[in-house]
Amino acid sequence: MAPSHHTPDGAFRNPWALDEARFGGLLKWRWDRIRHPLPRDNGAHALPRARPAIRSPRAAADEIVVTWVGHSTLLVQLGTLNILTDPIWSDRASPWRAIGPRRLVEPGVAIHALPPIDVVLLSHNHYDHLDAWTVRTLASAHAEARWIVPLRLGKLVSSLGARAVEELDWWEERQLGNATIGCTPARHFSARTPLDRNRTLWCGYAVASAGRRFYYAGDTGVHPEFTRIGERFGPFDVAALPIGAYEPRWFMRPVHIDPDEAVTAYRALHAHHESASDAVMVGLHWGTFRLTDEPVLDPPRRAREAWSRAGLSEKHLWILAHGETRVR
Ligand code: ZN
Ligand code: ZN
Repeated sequence: MAPSHHTPDGAFRNPWALDEARFGGLLKWRWDRIRHPLPRDNGAHALPRARPAIRSPRAAADEIVVTWVGHSTLLVQLGTLNILTDPIWSDRASPWRAIGPRRLVEPGVAIHALPPIDVVLLSHNHYDHLDAWTVRTLASAHAEARWIVPLRLGKLVSSLGARAVEELDWWEERQLGNATIGCTPARHFSARTPLDRNRTLWCGYAVASAGRRFYYAGDTGVHPEFTRIGERFGPFDVAALPIGAYEPRWFMRPVHIDPDEAVTAYRALHAHHESASDAVMVGLHWGTFRLTDEPVLDPPRRAREAWSRAGLSEKHLWILAHGETRVR
């Protein structure tokens, strides 16, 4: 029997009995914004930038070095393995050059300043996660990179020039030298055109290398599998979770967690690991493209509040500046 997130016609769905974001909702949201435009938001001017401190070409075997490029693009130097998540360097998260959400802040690392990339993790095909120009540029500059993508996304990524592309289903694993990459469930959807909704899968990833463990949630709403992900692939040293693109809740909740839910998910990931009390959470998917209604600076503020309400140690929540590097 096919797994429950596969549909009989070869597409995908969220297997949990929960409300789905619908096209009618999209129209209602857009119409609401036309009738009630959002107030001007100058928050982006307050976003700090930092000078990256990337380990070139590689980190030491016993460190984890994390650099935020922007949005969900993270350079993770997991020991000697260099990983990029959902890379986007373009000026807009859009199929077009002249319209679509525009970058608020320059990428924190220049694309030509990257160290050699071993693995690129793509979580799904939305334009803010899979950017054609970025894939082409990386594929030619880092020809040896392995591209890990969810089911049915391989064809597009190969057509953009990536050479070693592997598709994974939820809970599948790949061995890559000494590293293991696991594909994890997420509650989201896919689409690049009005006609291809959910034809390709969406997911998150867990990577283990030399005893160090990293989790990347991709885009996701709340779902009941975080604890199982932690049991199977944890305990994580670093868990990167989205904290932005959550308003209005009536429409976004099924597909994007908010900062409170991100903290809840972080705790669920570590529910089975007493030793995980020093796991770091990195907040992603905010401060770079304005995709939704919340003010630009709300996600980090609310994440800090939720973190302290949960009684967690301040030093384990990493809200990075664009370009900032931290070592774990
Ligand atoms: Zn998405
Ligand atoms: Zn996204």
